Amino acid sequence: MAWDFSTEPEFQEKLDWVKEFCEEKVEPLDHIFPHAVRVPDPAVKAYVRELQQEVKDQGLWAIFLDPELGGPGYGQLKLGLLNEVIGRYPGAPQMFGAAAPDTGNMEMLAAYGTEEQKERWLKPLLNQDIFSAYSMTEPQGGSDPSLFKTTAVQYGDEWVINGEKWFTSAGRVADILFVMCTNGMFIVPRDTPGVEIMPEPRNHNHIIYRDVRVPLDHLLGPPNGAKVLAQRRLGGGRIHHAMRTVAQCNLAFDMMCERALSRESHGKIISDHQMVQEKIAESYAAIKMLRLFVLETAWKIDNTSTQDARTEIAAVKFTMAKVLREVSFNALHILGSLGTTDLTPIQAMYATAPTMGIADGVDEVHIATVARRVLRDYRPHEGNFPTEFLPYKREEARKKMQPVLDARPELAAAAEAYQKYLQRRR
Ligand SMILES: Cc1cc2nc3c(=O)[nH]c(=O)nc-3n(C[C@H](O)[C@H](O)[C@H](O)COP(=O)(O)OP(=O)(O)OC[C@H]3O[C@@H](n4cnc5c(N)ncnc54)[C@H](O)[C@@H]3O)c2cc1C
Repeated sequence: MAWDFSTEPEFQEKLDWVKEFCEEKVEPLDHIFPHAVRVPDPAVKAYVRELQQEVKDQGLWAIFLDPELGGPGYGQLKLGLLNEVIGRYPGAPQMFGAAAPDTGNMEMLAAYGTEEQKERWLKPLLNQDIFSAYSMTEPQGGSDPSLFKTTAVQYGDEWVINGEKWFTSAGRVADILFVMCTNGMFIVPRDTPGVEIMPEPRNHNHIIYRDVRVPLDHLLGPPNGAKVLAQRRLGGGRIHHAMRTVAQCNLAFDMMCERALSRESHGKIISDHQMVQEKIAESYAAIKMLRLFVLETAWKIDNTSTQDARTEIAAVKFTMAKVLREVSFNALHILGSLGTTDLTPIQAMYATAPTMGIADGVDEVHIATVARRVLRDYRPHEGNFPTEFLPYKREEARKKMQPVLDARPELAAAAEAYQKYLQRRR
């Protein structure tokens, strides 16, 4: 029997190690040095390197990459189980060499880079000696790539890039930028003349690329291959976000339950009020459904490919955003006034929940994708009535059962009697 929801003991040991490591080392560091991985102070850097070495010693570094791409190759299902733990701690993905936007960029480099490009950029990215950003969205259009205008033109032994990008996360602090042009994906060092980073927004940058010149070998993948590379990058990224979203939902749920058992109102612990129970039970069921859907999708990717699991990935993408919105709202509400402050993680989680429905493609586009792909397996019915129209079904049933009725006169008599009874009742 192949259906099995258990985790093999050796891998469970790894998960237990990750949980303890995150609780004992990553979470404390997060509170003392948020974004520790990017802090330039040598003392902090040295401590971060020590922790990262512990992760490497466990064979858990860059866990999102397959062996042929330079990672340990746990596959997406195991990665999902790991992300369910590390997604709870903001600094943990970087401690495991598995933080966006670098992960997607590394995946593109690993899959499409030449040996020279991998040596030059993938290795230092994997080691976190450098960081990257991804420049795709443009001010005039995000959801529809056909509206993108940034283009590279070849002059002699250089590409000259012109265009404008919007919402390049961490572009300001990146060493290299992956720039999606209408005719290919290009790697641009941030300090290249002509890369102009606007003062606002601060974290997701607006960047003008004005006559930016890069050598020919800065084209990643084939000419005109940007869409294929982007799909590869975003497909993986979406399921990884979903895995970490399960962790965030679990955190919200734990906070909700603890509070429900700790607070009194109108003569009862609030968990005894039915409307609080409803929020808890519905959140529980929603998280369970999301988790199973994420893991099943991860399993499908492992057994087929990201391309074959496109419908599931798109459906997971908008479902996780919805579940996070609902569960973080329920948790915030049960925490009352405290939930609206920044004294717990819940307010920030609720405030950022809508971004999950926008980043990596807006919900509407994924919803339309799912509907379009699902409908490919259906055909319109003939005539005016659907296949499940009961008079048709009875007629068909009669035809299918006729040989049985012919062979068993007593069954045929019973069927006739029953039909008469039904007619009398109508
Ligand atoms: C936190 C975060 C991080 C991001 N990081 C990056 C990054 O690193 N690099 C990068 O390039 N981009 C990044 N983005 C941008 C992201 O890719 C875009 O926001 C996204 O593609 C949507 O584009 P848009 O914001 O221009 O919205 P629009 O495309 O303008 O859409 C706005 C609204 O219009 C409606 N709409 C649009 N299209 C359809 C449709 N087909 N059917 C029905 N309704 C529709 C929806 O209601 C949608 O929410 C990030 C975004 C967020 C929120």
